[in-house]
Amino acid sequence: MLRKRKLDSRPERSYLCDYCSTLKFEVESFVVRPKETEQRRSEDNRRKSHEFRHTGEVPGAYPVKQDQKKKKNLDNVPRYLGRLSAIRRKKHCPFCRLVLEIVDRPLDQRAPSAFYDDDASVFAKWVIDGQEEVADDEGVSGQPQFIPRTRRVLIYSEPQAFKDGYIALLNETAPFKEFFGRRLKSHDLLDAEVIKSWIKTCEHQHGVECEESLVHPVLMKQQKNILRCIDVENMCVTVVPQDCRFVALSYLWGKNFEQLFTTSENLPRLSTPGALSKESLPQTIKDTIRLTKLLGERYLWTDSLALVHDAGFQYHDDWIYARAHLTVVAGSGQNANAGLPGVRKGSRTWHQSIEEVVPGVKLMVSHLAEDYIATSQWDSRAWTFQERMLSRRCLLFVNGRVYFQCRRSTFCEDMEMPTANGWSLDSIDMPTRIFREKPFVQFTSAVELYTRRELTNPADILAAFAGVQQVLEKRLNATIYYGLFEPLMDSSLIWESSKRLVRRNDFPSWSWAGWLGEIQWRFTDSARSWIQWHHSEDGADETHHFPPQMVPRIDPPIPWHKYPRRSARKVAKDSSASPLLHFDTVVATFSLVHPQPVRKAIISPLRKRLTGPSALSTVRPAPADPGLLRTGIADRNGMWCGTIDLDEKWQVRTGVALKFLIMSRMSCFAEEEMATWQDSPFFPDSAEDEMKRFDYGVYNVVLVSENRGVYHREGVGRILTSALENALEPAPHWQDILLG
Ligand SMILES: [Zn+2]
Ligand SMILES: [Zn+2]
Repeated sequence: MLRKRKLDSRPERSYLCDYCSTLKFEVESFVVRPKETEQRRSEDNRRKSHEFRHTGEVPGAYPVKQDQKKKKNLDNVPRYLGRLSAIRRKKHCPFCRLVLEIVDRPLDQRAPSAFYDDDASVFAKWVIDGQEEVADDEGVSGQPQFIPRTRRVLIYSEPQAFKDGYIALLNETAPFKEFFGRRLKSHDLLDAEVIKSWIKTCEHQHGVECEESLVHPVLMKQQKNILRCIDVENMCVTVVPQDCRFVALSYLWGKNFEQLFTTSENLPRLSTPGALSKESLPQTIKDTIRLTKLLGERYLWTDSLALVHDAGFQYHDDWIYARAHLTVVAGSGQNANAGLPGVRKGSRTWHQSIEEVVPGVKLMVSHLAEDYIATSQWDSRAWTFQERMLSRRCLLFVNGRVYFQCRRSTFCEDMEMPTANGWSLDSIDMPTRIFREKPFVQFTSAVELYTRRELTNPADILAAFAGVQQVLEKRLNATIYYGLFEPLMDSSLIWESSKRLVRRNDFPSWSWAGWLGEIQWRFTDSARSWIQWHHSEDGADETHHFPPQMVPRIDPPIPWHKYPRRSARKVAKDSSASPLLHFDTVVATFSLVHPQPVRKAIISPLRKRLTGPSALSTVRPAPADPGLLRTGIADRNGMWCGTIDLDEKWQVRTGVALKFLIMSRMSCFAEEEMATWQDSPFFPDSAEDEMKRFDYGVYNVVLVSENRGVYHREGVGRILTSALENALEPAPHWQDILLG
């Protein structure tokens, strides 16, 4: 409705408004010339990497300095475009019209914003987009290097009334094609040739990184079942060799949705050529069969038809998605009748808004691929996580669009991607890139992405993660125990919530699996500890040891002294069924002060820590109310000495003496924690002095509650190391801990 009205009221004469004219729309603004790149690189070398994190700037893109007259240094300087209400009135301005396309996105693509009705101020910013990936010529980092080639315009508002969006140059008016927008040939039908070219690029130019299965050959061999596929030429179910090249379908069955399943009874019938043409198949499967043919492939695997669904059927995919040549994702809709929009004529309508803002400069709206993918029902489900993560390459049908994603690149229909290795903003938040990172980052990123998803049956929390877990274990050569990375227990245990969590009772509270909700690790550098880790299975008497820790033990906060040990079995028998962590450490008492709601929007876990251009933080997620409090930790003088994020319900416990387990040591607080406290009136001078020292040091602490001799995790925070001297009574002391 909105869109229609807007188009109808389009005036005869189009001209840029005063605000938009300041953006200097000329083709050259969208191009990064090699000379600039040289200048950027030398500046890069002078700047230290941590400065970027602090300012949130795009590395290699700096605000204009007075003495730099070169007009190309436009990046990252916000340009005010006016109030939303004023932009709505400027029907004559082609750029304002594009901005409104971003503001008024269809509801299913837009997260509701509390500020949508406010008359927000809208800004535009030039940001680096396309980057060419080259080998690290200086051999310094061992990481690939990226050379910026193109820019897009980022559109956003303060306060955030809509999801940030981009405006890109159409390649018809660009000096080269790559990284620029592409006009769709047909609005209702996908272009099979384009899709084939994506697959070909990946097969021929991305090398082993995309071709090699993530699943270790040893695990692959464990599969024992016969491999069946749909033969799309003969339209029947057929047995294929184990190394057969096939396409796999990942889709949602839908609640109470009736569809055809293969059983031993109908298998002979479905195996006769032509049988499937006579059956009534769900739209999604019909479309995928058609697509498989269009792509020139012969075999298609769908769980409904390739597995035999007899009584007692247990779903077991035998690493199908890791073995598939291509995974087709039906990400639109709620059930198996959603289809693959774009495969049949008239099955979608894609309105591509293009405006010629000045003669020779044609612009279009573009939203990041992951922005669309993440809004799909398919991507919100826990079980589809491993299907996506383990696939070599995915062809995703979401929101009426088609995206291709492999471990290196993301391709989309309305943007031209380079045939050589390249990176664009569309690769931001691409989950499969985590496998290029350091071991602990692979592990934490996988868990963080996974815990953002929904699970119908809460008891499946570890089961739906098992595939990715096994792959990680083989890759990292370590065991993951109840969701924690065994050789780095000290770091694994300091996971925190990024939203309010609800307890999942059948799993231990020290594991993220014991909670429902999004979790995060604030630190990826190692926590150092003095604790020797043990665990007791289900109240068994003997204690199991964790493997030698990758980080050497350090001296404890206070000298160790003897005390009687308890038997885990005796305690566990009547108070806990899930495994207990059994260890000795220092316990101290503090109270909570100055609680305040956490308001900060949660940045995607990938955005904040991946290396390479994915680290660029240019688009903000919609602001959310995480339901958390950031609370100060106070010593016996009532002075602030640390910080912890807790569920809002802890507000009433402010001022009460609470027990904290001292777990490990880090070099400092997290930046966002300091952002809350450093400028607050509660922040004592003594803390400020202490933090001026290089590597001042903090302890990671776990706030615990106690139930019949077993402690339970309530939250993780940090205190200054000096805080132990001023803890409440009883004074810090060693204790034998059972953490359930
Ligand atoms: Zn304008
Ligand atoms: Zn690839």
